Amino acid sequence: MSRATFEQLLEVWDGETAVVQRDRETNGWIFVCIHSTRRGPAGGGTRMNVYATPADGLEDAMRLSAAMTRKLAVVGLPFGGGKTVIAVPEIPSGQTRHALWLRYGDLIESLGGTYRTSSDMNTGEADLDVIGQRTEYVLGRSIGAGGAGNPARPTARGVFHGIRASLAQVFGSEDLEGRVVLIEGAGGVGSQLAGYLAEAGAAVLIADIDRTRAQTVAARVGGEVVSSDRVVEAHTDVYAPCAVGGVLSTDIASRLDCRVVAGSANNQLAEQDAADVLRARGILYAPDYVINAGGAIALVGREQLSWSDSDVETALARVGETLREVYRRSEERGISTAAAADALADERLSS
Ligand code: NAD
Repeated sequence: MSRATFEQLLEVWDGETAVVQRDRETNGWIFVCIHSTRRGPAGGGTRMNVYATPADGLEDAMRLSAAMTRKLAVVGLPFGGGKTVIAVPEIPSGQTRHALWLRYGDLIESLGGTYRTSSDMNTGEADLDVIGQRTEYVLGRSIGAGGAGNPARPTARGVFHGIRASLAQVFGSEDLEGRVVLIEGAGGVGSQLAGYLAEAGAAVLIADIDRTRAQTVAARVGGEVVSSDRVVEAHTDVYAPCAVGGVLSTDIASRLDCRVVAGSANNQLAEQDAADVLRARGILYAPDYVINAGGAIALVGREQLSWSDSDVETALARVGETLREVYRRSEERGISTAAAADALADERLSS
């Protein structure tokens, strides 16, 4: 729980604009944080969540918007970073939810395109379709409503390229034939990643707290299910966290039995030091916000830059190239890959 007030949070935040709107109808708060428009309009998802205090919601929006600035800069998109947090006492449904999206759409429209949003935790394609009734500044609507749809596939494709680049760094070859990859999370991203990896010849292990989901994906790709409490001990070439954040503590980093950590989950490092522990143990960590940028690349490319399918595929392959650059810098400077990614993002931001 944040002990800071709105005023204190705004005082120290290094972003450009924070829009605060009280939403009396839901007894909630809408926070739109535009962290940077230096490289272009700010882009970021709309997260809806229950927080202990409204200030916690604002703080989350500030932190997440700064992360978007780095993510979009490191992959070279002409976009800055932003984020919306809608802090509600309970997640609304039905007519209450529909009406909230219309009000929110009006708010986004009033920002005149300095901020463009998509989905995040507790929001999805159907919500974006409603928001899109009031504003054109929304990305990721359903294909039927004129959007590019769910970004899970391009995210998985970007992770696939990232895994290959990571294998090349560690083993001298990006060939997946015979490599063992453990995917944690058989959801939108994990299930599609499993397909790409199996097709390229990898042995796929899959873990999910929902065992039926893991079994379905394993059966589809000819993989094997691993119990979700056995992930840390599993002996693999690649551990691909594609479920939740915070999976890399220093303790877990010191126990993992793999050569590469490369997956889509956001905020994988529970402690920054975990990246140094991995490095010291010779485990290559693909920084999360670089390897999971495929969804953002596809949405911006298709909906804002009029890219064709092949332009999108080329850009997704560049996720691997960006990671190679991060790895080169990490080696050259003797720093963790996480620190190298931050440095590369900051460099691209100031260039
Ligand atoms: P999802 O909700 O479709 O799937 C998540 C899966 O993880 C579910 O099957 C769930 O049962 C499982 N899971 C949850 N907790 C788990 C645990 N402790 N251990 C094992 N399995 C667990 O989500 P998704 O869209 O596939 O996204 C996966 C991750 O990638 C998330 O962290 C998300 O923030 C991140 N990400 C997704 C995208 C995207 O385009 N969808 C883009 C960038 C980052």
